[in-house]
Amino acid sequence: MTLHMIVGAASDTGRVRDHNEDSYLVDDQLALVAVADGMGGHQAGEVASATALEALRASVSSGDAIRDAVAAANGAVYEKSTTDERLRGMGTTMTAATLASGGTLLLGHVGDSRAYLLRDGELHRVTTDHSLVEELVQAGELTEEEAEADPRRSMITRALGIEPVVNVDLYPLQLQPGDRLLFCSDGLTGMVPEDHIAGVLEDEVDPNVVAQQLVALANDAGGIDNITAVVVDLVDDADMTASLPAVAPDTPPPDEPEPEPEPEAAATEPAAPRRRRWWRVLRWAIPIVLVIGIAGGVLWWYARDTYYVGNNHGQVAVFKGRPGGVLIWKETLARREQLRVSDLQPTDQEQVKAGHGQFSSLADAEAYVRRIRRSATTTTTTTTTAPPPITTTTAPPTPSSTPTP
Ligand code: MG
Repeated sequence: MTLHMIVGAASDTGRVRDHNEDSYLVDDQLALVAVADGMGGHQAGEVASATALEALRASVSSGDAIRDAVAAANGAVYEKSTTDERLRGMGTTMTAATLASGGTLLLGHVGDSRAYLLRDGELHRVTTDHSLVEELVQAGELTEEEAEADPRRSMITRALGIEPVVNVDLYPLQLQPGDRLLFCSDGLTGMVPEDHIAGVLEDEVDPNVVAQQLVALANDAGGIDNITAVVVDLVDDADMTASLPAVAPDTPPPDEPEPEPEPEAAATEPAAPRRRRWWRVLRWAIPIVLVIGIAGGVLWWYARDTYYVGNNHGQVAVFKGRPGGVLIWKETLARREQLRVSDLQPTDQEQVKAGHGQFSSLADAEAYVRRIRRSATTTTTTTTTAPPPITTTTAPPTPSSTPTP
């Protein structure tokens, strides 16, 4: 089994702040997803989150495992913060994950942005916040409900860029096809209850739409902070490439503690299987649509490209189409003649009542009408003429000569 990520994301300033210090990263090539929530005065928060993600990507790209990559991001932010006076004291959260082939997600986490897993309709929080209220909850001094309303809930106890070295929490997670992940900043979780988040994650299919809806919910609830949501759907490669003869072989055992990102995984592009999936649908759909179209065209042509002469309430008439119609294409009256069917010759009457001819044009049909009109007139003028007497000559019986013995 090789899992691929299909990602949707949205980030918004919210309704209160004047700029967005959140950043997120989606790198299909590296199978890397991350959310960072920066903090610091005078837009230093934006610098912190962007710097951290840039360093994270470079580190993963050079082959580092996720924990080392988050540590490298810490170093990059710390260095900028200590060398540039305007950026002093800036920091950022980081929730970042790489997907190794075999479906193992390795998640590195610092701060109060979160990762959730939706599996079989149930939402699980994967990460534990590094925040004051979370520590109080862990210590039994606050309940979950009290924590949600606590004014200190945005105070974090751990961040990137504050100290030269940071302790990174690592969560290895064995994923399955159908799993859905959410990475988000506290601008979402601080505003929207988890059961509402779960509802949106469950109900909506398109991960981009999910991300946008979650941001909208946070804004509807007040949007007091920057809001970022990254939604990741896990799709089995085999589902996407079932029509291809070769399927990528299974790769390292899932119990391996922390495998390096696979070069194969880095080289595969989730966009390609998505195109293949579309192609699989189109490959069937195009011929079917063509066949239906051509058959419909032929039938239409068969049904409509002809004229016949028939009976319209006792009058002779020319119809376009075929007697009785073909499927949905009924015949239509083209021309009503000043000629009564009952005036026609008996054989013509029969033909007209049944619908006569397959004329290729209205003119041809009218030529036939002229002919039956003429014979109708001829009949009426000649009815007075008595039919010639039929004479039969009967020969007298010839006596048969039978030889007499
Ligand atoms: Mg925030």
